[in-house]
Amino acid sequence: MRLFAHSCPACEGLEGFSCPEAEIATRRAFLAGVGGFATTFLAAPAVAQALTGSTRRIAIRRVQTGDSFEGIYWREGRYEREALRRLDAIMRDPGMDEATPMDPRLFDVLASVRERLGSDEAWLVISGYRTPETNASRARQSRRVSRASLHMSGMAADCRLPGREALGIARAAADMQTGGVGLYRRDGFVHLDCGPARRW
Ligand SMILES: [Zn+2]
Repeated sequence: MRLFAHSCPACEGLEGFSCPEAEIATRRAFLAGVGGFATTFLAAPAVAQALTGSTRRIAIRRVQTGDSFEGIYWREGRYEREALRRLDAIMRDPGMDEATPMDPRLFDVLASVRERLGSDEAWLVISGYRTPETNASRARQSRRVSRASLHMSGMAADCRLPGREALGIARAAADMQTGGVGLYRRDGFVHLDCGPARRW
């Protein structure tokens, strides 16, 4: 598995949006050094409010690979490096076998929506990080796939939560203003991201 550095296509489609690539670069710098990400990554207020307590847990399973993680990824103000490393691997582009440092606020979004829905199930992740190549080929196949997708910046996940309708998940996330929320009702999944609050 190799890490893939890329320019910032997400910024082209989102006016007035701070560059996620710069934050990912900050996180890379942190990964190379010491310490947590407490000061560089702050979850949206509604997301942080939903996540009370001194630890944050997440349960996810990757549909294509069966890889899974269940446990604490944030403790007392800091993201846990080892947990993020495992989550990054699970969220990799399976077709290209490439990973990127995911924006950890995406895990806050997933954790807070699951909390709001009162579910103990693991998120089933259909799509996490996408290389620009994968995203471009998806965009050619479907008009609903953005060419400036936040999947390429490690900020988005397409997922299902067993026992919950996609509509209910999308409504909860939109109410909480967790970030971007896309409802793909026919396919039974939602797109959630930690970018600006918007819905489609
Ligand atoms: Zn998506």
